[in-house]
Amino acid sequence: MAEDAVTASWAHGACAWSILVHGGAGDVSAEHLPRHVEGCERAAAAGAAVLAAGGSALDAVQRAVEVLEDDASFNAGTGACLNEDGAIELDASIMDGTTLQAGGVCALAPFKNPIAIARRVMDASSHVLLAGEGAARFALEQGFVRADPSSMITDLARARLAAAQAKQTTEGWAGGTVGAVARDASGRVAAATSTGGMVNKRAGRVGDSPIVGAGTYADDATAACSTTGHGEAMIRVCLAKTASDAARTDGAEHAARASLAMMHARTSGTGGVILAARDGSLGLARTTRTMSWAAATDTGRASGA
Ligand code: ASP
Repeated sequence: MAEDAVTASWAHGACAWSILVHGGAGDVSAEHLPRHVEGCERAAAAGAAVLAAGGSALDAVQRAVEVLEDDASFNAGTGACLNEDGAIELDASIMDGTTLQAGGVCALAPFKNPIAIARRVMDASSHVLLAGEGAARFALEQGFVRADPSSMITDLARARLAAAQAKQTTEGWAGGTVGAVARDASGRVAAATSTGGMVNKRAGRVGDSPIVGAGTYADDATAACSTTGHGEAMIRVCLAKTASDAARTDGAEHAARASLAMMHARTSGTGGVILAARDGSLGLARTTRTMSWAAATDTGRASGA
């Protein structure tokens, strides 16, 4: 296995409750990286507050991802990247490891917190994934408010689109998809992921993030997983499910490393994986130059990139 494709990894041992968030795999400049790490720390703290109060892993990952969606530094919610038409199309999903219930939205028009709509798909519909105009209609029926696109599109997103179109490429955002995994004090795990996808993507393109098993997976019997990176590669190797399954026997850090190495060997795709295993242990790995992250547990905090 091409383990040398892995550029960094990190692990934390078993604990009563834990949360780990990422701010996207990529190549974030030294100038912007501190802001990304700080954003992850704020999100992990928000999720940790839910867990410390006895809340569920599911509520904790939703809360953490909402914080990251509201932070314009990241490619999710406000600040999301633009497609070929200069429009925002959002992908997000959430999964409960106890029930294996999951919800997702994809190619969704601007709404402030797509992860909250994904959660509502899980809780209030009999479906797992809603797309495009149908997803927007569901959100409106559920009381979510359509955002004015100009309130969510940043100058940075416009500049990135112009640069990609000048080169006639579709590009990954340099580290900006967001995700969270958690284990609560009752031993339940959950995962959530949210993104604007890729800069200058075709209208209607859907990546791995809203796809259960590719961008997000959670099972109390194994682990919760959120992934980031080249979505087409991740879909092809079912990265989140592959990594979660491996964590059962190999531990979270090794599973993150091995699943990314496998994806790189089979598809050349790069990215990052975060995992929260059923015993509360945490692990992450990346094959990119950077991936901002932050963790909080009942015993302490850590962060990095
Ligand atoms: N996985 C996301 C996508 O392909 C992008 C990313 O994680 O940066 O839509």
